Amino acid sequence: MKKEPITGKIHSFESFGTVDGPGVRFVVFMQGCAFRCLYCHNPDTFDLNHAAYELTPLEVLQKMQKFMPYYKHGGITVSGGEPLLQPQFVKELFRICKAEGIHTAIDTAGCYLGDDVKEALNHTDLVLLDVKCIDPTIHLALTRKPLQPTLDFANYLSEQRIPTWIRYVLVPGFTDSDDLIERHAQFVSGLTNVTKVEILPFHKMGSIKYETLGLEYALKETIPPSEERIENAKNIYRNKGIEVN
Ligand code: SF4
Repeated sequence: MKKEPITGKIHSFESFGTVDGPGVRFVVFMQGCAFRCLYCHNPDTFDLNHAAYELTPLEVLQKMQKFMPYYKHGGITVSGGEPLLQPQFVKELFRICKAEGIHTAIDTAGCYLGDDVKEALNHTDLVLLDVKCIDPTIHLALTRKPLQPTLDFANYLSEQRIPTWIRYVLVPGFTDSDDLIERHAQFVSGLTNVTKVEILPFHKMGSIKYETLGLEYALKETIPPSEERIENAKNIYRNKGIEVN
């Protein structure tokens, strides 16, 4: 019987991404996510069955070809949605990218750690890992998913010494207390492989999408953090010797 080619369900592409990893990057936003982060600015990626594209890894690589010289000091990032919901596709895409000498990065919430995911990580140069809150109860309230799988994922990356940037969304009323940031920084400082923490201030730029999709936007009354609170958070990591964006 003929083997079906692996395809990925994809929401969209960005040819000149500059915020999802080092250098200029081709960003593939994968469709589908099991989390329901209250602040998510990509709710249109939630449903795996609403992909704009269904492409093979080779077809994605071909989309990069036109701009390849720009990716020389950058590479490819798969984001989402949750890219590791489709690990076989990511594994094959990264395998062929590595064969072309392209730097590979995954932006993930780190909630899956099956064999396919581990194999995809074997072809990954950098993980951008969102550890959304260090308190299990608040994590559940904020994302609708438990924290422990993400901690297990972070510890696996650390054991394997896979270079990682940790991302932390600073959400007033959820993740911005000094105590929570201290505990988060404490966890990060125990990992062997983290080269940077990125503090991402909460914003409401995706709220219009919720209206369009007929979904409730729970954080409409939440105000983005002040410059002072952002700097305060950064200093907590710096005081533990961690580089911050
Ligand atoms: S994990 Fe990312 S894509 Fe999924 S709901 Fe949270 S912010 Fe949105």
